[in-house]
Amino acid sequence: MIRGSRSIQIIGAGHNGLVCAAYLARAGHQVTVFEASSQVGGAAITREFAPGFKVSAAAHLVYMLDPGIEKELDLASHGLEYARTGLQTISLSEAGDHVRFNGDDVDGVSEGDREAMREYRRKMQHFAGIIGGLHNRVPARLGTTDRPDLLELARLAFNIRRLGKNDMREFLRIAGINIYDVLQELFENDALKGALGLDGTLGTMLGTRSNNSVFCALHRYSNGGRYQLPKGGMGTVSNALANAARAFGAEIHTARPVNRILMDFDRATGVELQSGEQIEADLVVSGADPKTTFLKLLGAQNLEAGFAHKISNIRTRGNVAKLHLALGSVPDFTGLDPALSAERLVIAPSLQYVEQAFNHAKYGEHSRRPVMEISIPTLDDPGLAPAGKHVLSANVQWAPRELKGGWSAAHEAFTESVMNTLERFAPGICSQVMHRELLTPQDIESEFRIEGGHWHHAELALDQSMMMRPVPGTAQYKTPVDGLWICGAGCHPGGGVMGSAGRNAARAIIERSGT
Ligand SMILES: Cc1cc2nc3c(=O)[nH]c(=O)nc-3n(C[C@H](O)[C@H](O)[C@H](O)COP(=O)(O)OP(=O)(O)OC[C@H]3O[C@@H](n4cnc5c(N)ncnc54)[C@H](O)[C@@H]3O)c2cc1C
Repeated sequence: MIRGSRSIQIIGAGHNGLVCAAYLARAGHQVTVFEASSQVGGAAITREFAPGFKVSAAAHLVYMLDPGIEKELDLASHGLEYARTGLQTISLSEAGDHVRFNGDDVDGVSEGDREAMREYRRKMQHFAGIIGGLHNRVPARLGTTDRPDLLELARLAFNIRRLGKNDMREFLRIAGINIYDVLQELFENDALKGALGLDGTLGTMLGTRSNNSVFCALHRYSNGGRYQLPKGGMGTVSNALANAARAFGAEIHTARPVNRILMDFDRATGVELQSGEQIEADLVVSGADPKTTFLKLLGAQNLEAGFAHKISNIRTRGNVAKLHLALGSVPDFTGLDPALSAERLVIAPSLQYVEQAFNHAKYGEHSRRPVMEISIPTLDDPGLAPAGKHVLSANVQWAPRELKGGWSAAHEAFTESVMNTLERFAPGICSQVMHRELLTPQDIESEFRIEGGHWHHAELALDQSMMMRPVPGTAQYKTPVDGLWICGAGCHPGGGVMGSAGRNAARAIIERSGT
């Protein structure tokens, strides 16, 4: 054992838990991961949903994964491959007047909108850089006079100041309004505005007119906003991370749910598995969401009352449903060149449409005409389905976790709304369906063990970000309980398949342990 090496248990082999495991094992620690599910990856997995048809069961497009992690862990040599990179976004229109964009390039809009897109992208990339620049840093603690915390806060202020007078003013202005107003000021084309508006809301309980929708869009663009399709589905990313972690010496056990975190007075000393087995360790790191970690696995009785109260108040209401279709043939979207069906397709034909889809969620209802982000991965990755057959995977909003009347009563009606919406854009699609699966946030909660079924484990909003994520007092990955750390999407810098929370947590632990 190398000097300073410790035994570390990680709860959950979600991609962040795996990244954390890989970095800790690489630093010489003895790492053991306990995952409840029978496969690694958490919400980043590939699984069969109908005989012979496989799909990325939650996350389906890579656009946030930190390239530094891919390189440092050499994920390519551990099996990570992309079926395609640089997917375009196509904002579908019922009439076939689709808008296509990728970076600054936009097709199907006026010259004025093309120019506006260049300006919008310049501005958003510039501002997203401020957020992205913080992804790989441990947030400052608030209210201390310690030098590292003050320096970290100064760095944030300096980065904003460095935008220059005009952009700084603009950054502060748009951060305080909403994506609807920002887009209305700049663009004419409805389908373009709808798709960009969706980027400010996807994965959250936000409409385009909600505060934080600009922040959400900036978060989405903060790692470059380039859409990639992993070969073999999202499980390939997680499997490559698991392979990397194992190559550094980590042990990963699947189908071993943790029942509780063991405590000796005020210190975490290991875990008890559901089998009853108790295993001790120097440190415990949880990749589960914050409510699961603190309220279920640790228990509020082991926390100071004010802290437990803050954890129970984290907003974790999931709103995204996931649709999987096994198709006999490729759907025919009205007016869309079939070669473009492999791109990122979105149903968000106008800002009004997106906002109306959201309105229902405010009152605990599901959308009647939902918005969607669609991928047909089999067009680039035929191995996911039997020969000649296809898979359609769609993130569908809004489907509130806490639905009025409950999901068992509404599941079928919502699935029908989703299918009717698809049929309007791709007439005949319903007759091509061989099998369908729709996961509501309630299903996502139980399949992936994410409290609330939330995309980001905790709502992505300024008041739940950086030094306040998940709550002040544990935003530096170390929790108020000695020996217990957290590393999942509920930590800074949040969700999406990015891996930064896992790596930041590992770095913070390594710094403390001196290895
Ligand atoms: C429907 C949906 C669509 C999405 N689409 C995208 C997308 O296209 N692109 C994108 O980048 N992001 C997307 N996301 C977000 C992304 O999937 C998540 O933010 C990310 O996967 C979270 O990773 P994580 O490792 O932090 O947590 P998780 O993936 O939630 O991993 C936590 C792990 O902990 C395990 N666990 C929990 N409790 C226990 C216990 N008691 N014992 C043992 N193990 C336990 C869980 O089983 C799980 O494996 C989507 C999310 C959802 C829900």
